[in-house]
Amino acid sequence: MTSLPVIPVDPDAPGRRPAMPPRHLADLDLPGRRALVTELGEPAFRARQISHHYFGRLVRDPAEMTDLPAASRDRLAGALLPRLLTPVRELACDDGATRKALWRLHDGSLVESVLMGYPDRVTVCISSQAGCGMACPFCATGQAGLTRNLSAAEIVDQAVYLAGVAASGAVAGSPPRLSHVVFMGMGEPLANYSRVVTAIRRLVAPAPEGLGLSQRHITVSTVGLVPAIRRLASEDLSVTLALSLHAPDDELRDELVPVNQRWKVAEVLDAAWDYAATTGRRVSIEYAMIKDVNDQPWRADLLGRLLAGRSAHVNLIPLNPTPGSRWDASSKPVEREFVRRLRESGVSTTVRDTRGREIDGACGQLAAAGDSDSEAARGARPGVAVRDQET
Ligand code: SF4
Repeated sequence: MTSLPVIPVDPDAPGRRPAMPPRHLADLDLPGRRALVTELGEPAFRARQISHHYFGRLVRDPAEMTDLPAASRDRLAGALLPRLLTPVRELACDDGATRKALWRLHDGSLVESVLMGYPDRVTVCISSQAGCGMACPFCATGQAGLTRNLSAAEIVDQAVYLAGVAASGAVAGSPPRLSHVVFMGMGEPLANYSRVVTAIRRLVAPAPEGLGLSQRHITVSTVGLVPAIRRLASEDLSVTLALSLHAPDDELRDELVPVNQRWKVAEVLDAAWDYAATTGRRVSIEYAMIKDVNDQPWRADLLGRLLAGRSAHVNLIPLNPTPGSRWDASSKPVEREFVRRLRESGVSTTVRDTRGREIDGACGQLAAAGDSDSEAARGARPGVAVRDQET
């Protein structure tokens, strides 16, 4: 087994301050927006007015906020609505039901988000970091390392933009209202803890303070940062926790998910069960099916023993390989046998819908290709297919 680096660089460490974006209204709660608006010499009610445009009407362009006096609009836009995301590329597939956006941030970093429409719901998968420091060797994002944490507003703005796309009716056959958000794009959400929690609070706060989504329709994924899982359990939020396990034994997980060298399988699962007990939310166990690596029948049985009787559901994710990668997806018969064994152990199991394969839908693949269509970049970075979460 290869030994891989365990602990990522902390991008917020003193002396390594990354170029964070300007403040945006989505970084602030409504009282914070009111205070700022008042400081600018504007009446406090403007905070509610501009928030209604952004969160209620999904309008991100100040020029469209025509009920604001022109002079106030410029002042408020400068202070509260800086442009955070510049579209680089938008791609659609699955007959328009999947749309992927690649963004350039103010410092040139690239991040991705995905919109997935279903007959009964619309889900967005958003990024929480530019790059990722967790170094999972099968993941496109992990191979490039971490650039920086996203601000809360950079996270929220992805959802607001794509909620606007859904509201425009662009996703045929799906409801027009965004209903679910999964933190399964680029980055390890719990490594950007405070901003991710702030972003969640904006997503679930009723309009005009936030987007008004149900907490139960938010899913936060993690590779298993145990202290952060325990902290999240104490936040009085009932979001779903998705634990990216990928292996039931420490020997293999030390390689596939290097942070396992710090927090072992038993410790991570303990934290997950405590999370389920505290929040009442069933934990989602994510397991990328990688051919001849983690898909053996004995590993299905071991996983079944670890999860039997627990408040958990397994999502098997067919790996979305890229050309030149040494990682490949398990065959369908192997996948079916894995499912059969888990279910035989009494563990609820499904195989993840793999949206967006033909548009570099795996986490990090589009950013790896960047805006240059680099085949070398595509080939070097395999990944896990775009993920959506049943709740
Ligand atoms: S799988 Fe997730 S945690 Fe691991 S490197 Fe990729 S983005 Fe980071």
